[in-house]
Amino acid sequence: MPEQLIDGFGRIHRDLRIAVTDRCNFRCTYCMPVEGMKWQPRSEILTFEEIERLARLMVDRYDVDSIRITGGEPTVRARLTVLIEKLAGLGVDLSMTTNGVTMESVAHDLRSAGLGRVNISIDSLRRDRFAGITRRDNLREVLAGIDAAVETGFEPVKLNVVVMAGVNDDEVVDFVEFGVERGVVVRFIEFMPLDADGGWHNEKVFTGQQIVDRVSEVHPLEQLERTSAPATRFRLLDGTGEIGVISSVSESFCTACDRVRITADGQFRNCLFATGETDVRALLRNGSSDDVIARALEDSVASKWAGHEINRVNFVRPSRSMSQIGG
Ligand code: SAM
Ligand code: SF4
Repeated sequence: MPEQLIDGFGRIHRDLRIAVTDRCNFRCTYCMPVEGMKWQPRSEILTFEEIERLARLMVDRYDVDSIRITGGEPTVRARLTVLIEKLAGLGVDLSMTTNGVTMESVAHDLRSAGLGRVNISIDSLRRDRFAGITRRDNLREVLAGIDAAVETGFEPVKLNVVVMAGVNDDEVVDFVEFGVERGVVVRFIEFMPLDADGGWHNEKVFTGQQIVDRVSEVHPLEQLERTSAPATRFRLLDGTGEIGVISSVSESFCTACDRVRITADGQFRNCLFATGETDVRALLRNGSSDDVIARALEDSVASKWAGHEINRVNFVRPSRSMSQIGG
């Protein structure tokens, strides 16, 4: 029996998210403040060698089969293709989440290095609104990045759309149609209380159910079978495509969660909303053996809670925001 990263509720963890930087060239309102974000010093960020050692340990020992590179904005990390080559050598499903702004120029190199799939974040198809949400006037570049990702052969290309009530909820049908037209899978994500400004409020969440209802008025949907992935998938009944809905706030998918995270500064997190972390960087840097590191990972996962409590009064917001944790 191989060892497993298993928690007290029987959930086996095989999906690893690695934040490779906390820096970003955007300032999305739901994620980062307009200014004043303090970047972690370079010396505190895991090196590629440290990331590779940790990832290899988790793949070899715990059968981790899926790794997603994220951030901050992963493409701002220098020489990212070097890391991708190292991780691609582990034989896992290797993917990346990006804001897509430089995708047009880097897609080919990322693909050649061994990256399998990309998710590109885009929250509006309207130039002014896009600029308002991201605080950057880069819609044109992101659209070109989506086309480049498709042309380069990433399969599937997925789009992450954070839907916020009164901000962009009127665009969900436009996004579904855009996805069909471009041959990409659109995934709608509920706004989570992980913004750096602390501006999140329940009333700003446009729920997964509201998204499904809005889309169904124009494009009837059929729900597909659930997997351990956070998105509930729906097929467009006219056969033209599918969408995903990630209802992390209104209907948490915690019971099926198989995901763990490493922050850019080497802190292991057993949940996106965890309030505690395990300092793996210290172990990587103090000469600890793989067995010692593995025990720390196992202890962290063993202590994982049943699920987050966003909708309860006793919910405690994590002290770090999405860009620091690695969404
Ligand atoms: N910079 C990359 C990007 O934007 O795709 C990767 C990191 S970003 C933190 C990862 C994902 O988290 C993005 O799809 C982003 O839209 C999403 N995200 C960030 N803050 C969020 C929030 N408060 N609620 C829901 N999703 C959020
Ligand atoms: Fe940057 Fe991604 Fe956060 Fe936007 S969502 S500020 S692109 S890390």
